[in-house]
Amino acid sequence: AQPKIVIVGGGFGGAAAARFVKTYVPGASVTLIEPQAHYTACPFSNLVIAGLRSLEAQQFGYDGLKAIGIKVIGDRADDVDAPARTVTLSSGDTLSYDKLILSPGIDIRWGALEGYDEAAASIMPHAWKAGPQTSLLREQLEAMPDGGTVIMSVPTAPYRCPPGPYERASLIAHYLKTQKPASKLIILDAKDEFSKQPLFLEAWAEHYPDHLEWIGASDFGRVISVDPGAMTLSTDFDTYDADVANVIPPQKAGEIAARAGVADQTGWCPINPVDFSSTLQPDVYVIGDATIAAPMPKSAFSANLQAKLCALQIARELKGEALAPTILANTCYSYVTPGAAVSITGVYSNEGGQLSSIEGSGGLSPAGPASSVRAAEAAEAEAWFQQITQQTFG
Ligand code: FAD
Repeated sequence: AQPKIVIVGGGFGGAAAARFVKTYVPGASVTLIEPQAHYTACPFSNLVIAGLRSLEAQQFGYDGLKAIGIKVIGDRADDVDAPARTVTLSSGDTLSYDKLILSPGIDIRWGALEGYDEAAASIMPHAWKAGPQTSLLREQLEAMPDGGTVIMSVPTAPYRCPPGPYERASLIAHYLKTQKPASKLIILDAKDEFSKQPLFLEAWAEHYPDHLEWIGASDFGRVISVDPGAMTLSTDFDTYDADVANVIPPQKAGEIAARAGVADQTGWCPINPVDFSSTLQPDVYVIGDATIAAPMPKSAFSANLQAKLCALQIARELKGEALAPTILANTCYSYVTPGAAVSITGVYSNEGGQLSSIEGSGGLSPAGPASSVRAAEAAEAEAWFQQITQQTFG
């Protein structure tokens, strides 16, 4: 019989998984469940927030997947019965599967940061899921009078896109410097160390000495509560008044993961890295941000590669072949100005049931290079975005 593969979530992980399962197992019935008619990509959304790109340029539909024979259902998966191998949709319909791939991304841990609930997010946007939140933060920055203070709150790891807050800070600082020069951005960080830190610090000293201040955990940067009514953010030491507040809150795997019984007490999903099968439920796979896959970061690049690996191993298993381990990689680009970017690359092994970084591989962009090096990386970033969205959504 035709194997039935069901995929939940049509983002960078799920849409790629659907495509590659269909490619590697052409005879399979492949169904993708995604409630939104258009996916809005987070990578490059920091450019939208800085007024350098339209939100429409971030949006992708599912016609390319339908064209290769994938059934796309515009609905939400409400529940999974793993022993029965069924998924229940909001419509009430139930689908049965032989293999289920979950790529639901993140959900916010509402209330984990005191004062930050769903209502607070409409006043202090997180913009950590692209779409209306991205537009709201952009509109708030545009409406802010010159001389205003923007405050960004950044959580401890793990969270979606480790360098994302610092790219966003760079581009907001660029907007302030060029459009509202009497204004300032303060980053209140729950950590002392962050991704690509030396490269960001170098860029900030060069480009934004008067427009961006970063306060780490040791200097009481960790935000412990927010008050959207008063527009304040409090640390152990101080209370900050904000004209615009971008609160990046603590996160967990998308809710369906807990419903399916594949999330553990951390809120994230343990997997076997050889094929990204859940260690908690049979015939369920989890890829992308929802997983515990460190040292791989929660990135679109990682989600895409995990999707390909998962699809390949499912194809092997269905053919009765052995699941061979492989090499994985990730590169994350971050803009530090509209025309300059820096990157970090990691290379990983999944041999022996463990994900580990391969010593001596990967690394950071060089410090203090000719400006042409940063410009070349900005062009590479653009090419990466074109390529990954084309490959994923067609
Ligand atoms: P998502 O892409 O979020 O997809 C999840 C999908 O599942 C969504 O479409 C959602 O609607 C759907 N879904 C959820 N629950 C259900 C359900 N119950 N039923 C049906 N569907 C459901 N990564 C990079 O590699 N490079 C970058 O430059 C980069 N920049 C970023 C900048 C910012 C500001 C942010 C916030 C993130 C950035 N990322 C970047 C990270 C990247 O966006 C994520 O890592 C990536 O989207 C993860 O893919 P995913 O498939 O796990 O989740």
